[in-house]
Amino acid sequence: MSADIRIDPILCRGHAICALFYSDGVDLDQWGFGKVVLAVAESPRDVRRAHRAAAACPNGALVVRERQVGPTGT
Ligand code: SF4
Repeated sequence: MSADIRIDPILCRGHAICALFYSDGVDLDQWGFGKVVLAVAESPRDVRRAHRAAAACPNGALVVRERQVGPTGT
């Protein structure tokens, strides 16, 4: 299980909740806006944490998209 993570800079308002929920993958820039530092969550634990951070973002700016696994597991 893995997922791509991105922050929409138009929607982000710098609440910093994402960095609290998923500190390994998201940091804050110098102005306090969310900044992705790990664009791919590789472990199930990180994917869960990224989803939690996305759910907590009040602006829907953090987007987590799970990668589809094919029938061969690739
Ligand atoms: S919680 Fe959402 S709006 Fe706030 S800094 Fe993170 S991505 Fe931006």
